[in-house]
Amino acid sequence: MDFDQYQQEIAEYGDKFTANHQPGWELFLATGLCEEAGEVTALIRKAHRRGIPVGANSLAEELGDVLCYVAYIAHRYDLSLEKIASENINYKVKTNHHVQ
Ligand SMILES: [Mg+2]
Repeated sequence: MDFDQYQQEIAEYGDKFTANHQPGWELFLATGLCEEAGEVTALIRKAHRRGIPVGANSLAEELGDVLCYVAYIAHRYDLSLEKIASENINYKVKTNHHVQ
């Protein structure tokens, strides 16, 4: 699966799901993204505090939730997830002068 295909499937799912949140879908999505990012943070924080490894399956699930929101927010603002990823990798990796 590539980013375009993923975003298309998330768009179809999300358009149905957010239909009940009109108006105010922007706030619903923005807060949802923050909540999911917080769940990633909480998993890592709890594992660190307990001195145990982060559960890979749980972490993957929460990162997927973050990705879902990112993809759908991009869709609602007519942005291509594929293009975002491509431009980000160029910016972060190929032009990063802080990493040697
Ligand atoms: Mg979650």
